Amino acid sequence: MTVLTDAWFAPRSLTCYEVKARPMTTWTFIELRDDAGLAGLAEITYGQGQDRVISMLGRLAGRLRGERLRSDSDVMSRLGLSPADVAKDIVLATAVSGIRSALADALARRAALPLSDFLSLGEARSKPAGAGGLLAAPAHPAPPSAAPRVELYANINRSLLPEFPEKILMPPEPSDRSARGFAAMAKRAMDAGFKTIKCAPFDECRAPFRAAGVPREAEKGLERVQAAKAAIGPERKLYVDCHSRFDLASALALEPELRAAGAAWYEEPLDPLADPDNMRRVHEKAHLPIAGGEHGFGLDTFARLLGDGVVDIVMPDVKHCGGAAEAYRTGVEMERNRAMELSTGSGWLRIASGCVSMHCPSGPVSLLTSAHVTHAFSQAMNWGGGGPLPLEHAVYEVAWRRDVLGPAERIEGGSLVLPGGPGLGASLDYSAVLAHGRRWEP
Ligand SMILES: [Mg+2]
Repeated sequence: MTVLTDAWFAPRSLTCYEVKARPMTTWTFIELRDDAGLAGLAEITYGQGQDRVISMLGRLAGRLRGERLRSDSDVMSRLGLSPADVAKDIVLATAVSGIRSALADALARRAALPLSDFLSLGEARSKPAGAGGLLAAPAHPAPPSAAPRVELYANINRSLLPEFPEKILMPPEPSDRSARGFAAMAKRAMDAGFKTIKCAPFDECRAPFRAAGVPREAEKGLERVQAAKAAIGPERKLYVDCHSRFDLASALALEPELRAAGAAWYEEPLDPLADPDNMRRVHEKAHLPIAGGEHGFGLDTFARLLGDGVVDIVMPDVKHCGGAAEAYRTGVEMERNRAMELSTGSGWLRIASGCVSMHCPSGPVSLLTSAHVTHAFSQAMNWGGGGPLPLEHAVYEVAWRRDVLGPAERIEGGSLVLPGGPGLGASLDYSAVLAHGRRWEP
C-alpha cells in the first residue's frame, strides 16, 4: 500500500503511433515516458478530429513535462482545467483522457499491479476509513489462479465497411452491407462464442424525413436487423446503434418496429448529449432499453443522463470520458446507485440489468484498458438483479489485430482474457505497429 501512496510519474516525452487497419479505421496510440524509461500507454483514436487531438495533446503534455503526477486531479490542476470546461470540447476531452489513461497505466506499472487492481485499490485508498468496504472486499473475487475474463459483445459494423485492396493503388474493396451480409457476419461472431451482437444498420437514414411515421429510408435497416436476429436466434441478444440519425418523431415510430424485429437495446436514435430533451421523450415512451452517451466526459455527465431519465444505459468511452480512472469511478458510482434504486424501487431505474457498458469500437489498447476498467468495477459490485453488461469489441477489422500488442490480444469464446502483469499487462509490438503504420514525436 505504501508504494501506491508514494507512486508518482513525471512524463518527459510523448510518442505517437498510428496503425492503418481499414480505409476508415486508423488506430492512434500514445506513450508518455519518464527519464527512467517507464512508459504509460493509451489509445486516442478519434477519426476526423485526430490531428486536432494530437496537436492539443502535444501542447498539454509539454506543460506537464517533468511534473510529478500522482492522480487525475494532479493533471487537471497542473493544466488549470475544470471538468465542466473539458466536457464542452471533445478534442480537449480526448487529449485529457489520453494523458490520464497513460498516467494510470504508468502508475500501475510503477506500483507493480495490474491496472484493474490499481484502480480498485486507488478508489478504496481515497475513501475515509470504513467507507470503502465494498471495494476493499469485492463481492465475488476471482480465484487468484484464474486469469480474469471480461465478456465482450461483437460490434460487427466496422467489419462491414470497405477493406484495403489486395494491391496498392486499387480502390478499396467494397463490403456486403446487404441484409445477407449482416446476417453472415452476425453468424460468424455467434459461432466464435459471442452471446451479444451489435450492428448499425441505418445507412440510408438522416433526419429530417419527408413523411411522418417510420421513415421509408429505415426499411433497409430494419431488414438488416431482422436478418441478423434470424441468424443468431432467440437466445442471443442484438443491440442496435442508430448513430443519432433520427429525430423525435421518427425515433418514436421506429422503436416498436425494432422491438418487433427482436432488438435488445436502442442506442442513440438521437444524440443524448446534444439533444437530451427529445431523447428523454423517446425514453419515456420506449419499451426497449435506451443506451448512449459515448462522447460524454466526466462522472457528472453520466449521472445526469441516468438521473434525468435520458437513457437507461450509459456508454463511457475511455478515450473521451476522462480516462481509465474516471471510467472506473463512473462504473462503480452508477452501478452502486442502480443497486440502491433496485432495493428501494424508486427513482430513475427502469431496467434491472447493469447501467454501464463501456463504448469501445476501437483498437486493442482501448479494448484492453476498457476491459481492466470493466473487470474492476464489476468486481466492486454485488450484482443483485442481473450481472454486468458486456463490453464492446469491433470484431474482424483486420486479421493481424492481435499482433499489435505483446503479449498478443487474447479473445476466447467471446471474452477478453486479461494478460496479467503490471499496468495494462501488454505493450505495443513495435514491429507489428511499424509494419502497418508509423511512429513520431509531435
Ligand atoms: Mg454508438
